[in-house]
Amino acid sequence: MTAIGFIGLGNMGGPMAANLVKAGHAVRGYDVSATALQAAEAAGVTVRGRAADVLEGAELVITMLPSGGHVRDVYLGEGGLLAAARAGTLFIDCSTIDVETVRAAGEAATSAGMALLDAPVSGGVGGAQAGTLTFMVGGDAAAFERGRPVLEAMGRKIVHCGGPGSGQAAKICNNMILGISMIGVCEAFALAEKLELSHESLFEVASTSSGQCWSLTSYCPVPGPVPASPANRDYQPGFATALMLKDLKLAQAASQATGASTPMGALAAQLYSLHAGAGQGGTDFSSIIRLLRGSAEG
Ligand code: NAD
Repeated sequence: MTAIGFIGLGNMGGPMAANLVKAGHAVRGYDVSATALQAAEAAGVTVRGRAADVLEGAELVITMLPSGGHVRDVYLGEGGLLAAARAGTLFIDCSTIDVETVRAAGEAATSAGMALLDAPVSGGVGGAQAGTLTFMVGGDAAAFERGRPVLEAMGRKIVHCGGPGSGQAAKICNNMILGISMIGVCEAFALAEKLELSHESLFEVASTSSGQCWSLTSYCPVPGPVPASPANRDYQPGFATALMLKDLKLAQAASQATGASTPMGALAAQLYSLHAGAGQGGTDFSSIIRLLRGSAEG
């Protein structure tokens, strides 16, 4: 049993903390939302009134927050975690944020005799509930080995990607592939419709040919060929357009900071921005086929 602090008990953090409790860990949690705190308490988390209060007796602290600004505030802001924690504490930030922020927080943690891993996830709310998330972890190898058993209580696959920030780097590169490949698959279905080629025929050919990819075979953007995909339930997420747009913007910020050329990623960010602006931020990202068809239906 490990004494764990958990900050950010929302759609992802709530079920992740609940899985830590189920695995026998003692979890103290904090969130600014009273609703999130109530749900966490019902799942066996001991709730606290301030972020710094979860540090009491904690060997390890996990954060699962909306954005880089929140992570900066919680770790580095006035009365933040790094000022209040004792030396030796291991922090694991599972939020999806920019590489720069996590590296700054990591450097501050190291200077204070603590360690910080960046460990963003893939698998969505379903994976958080089922304890089957994939963790992409950046940070020093000894800290990774300390954190691994706790991450295993919340995930199925734990990958050490390299030094500080490399978990976030892996996450945004992967999601840039996903955003681009989904648009490619959607364009092909929209063209097939104009050519009077059935969804089933295109799927049968492309899923066993060189067009095969996850966006097609696991997450097909039209109803029918993959019964579990969001297209079969009017594009209820799944993975919301707003979250895809967030990750594509993080990828673009990283491209600009490093001078990488990512023209397809830039175009994907523009298309998802248009789609979100048209009121589709809350629908699954595969609904971008509607934008490409030029129709809100289907
Ligand atoms: P969410 O908004 O449901 O949860 C975030 C929680 O953080 C909220 O409960 C909020 O009240 C709390 N919070 C905000 N500021 C705080 C503060 N200063 N102190 C304490 N609590 C604070 O978001 P989510 O869907 O759980 O996502 C969390 C992170 O996981 C994001 O970075 C997101 O990009 C990433 N992510 C989400 C998904 C998904 O499918 N939802 C998938 C992969 C990664």
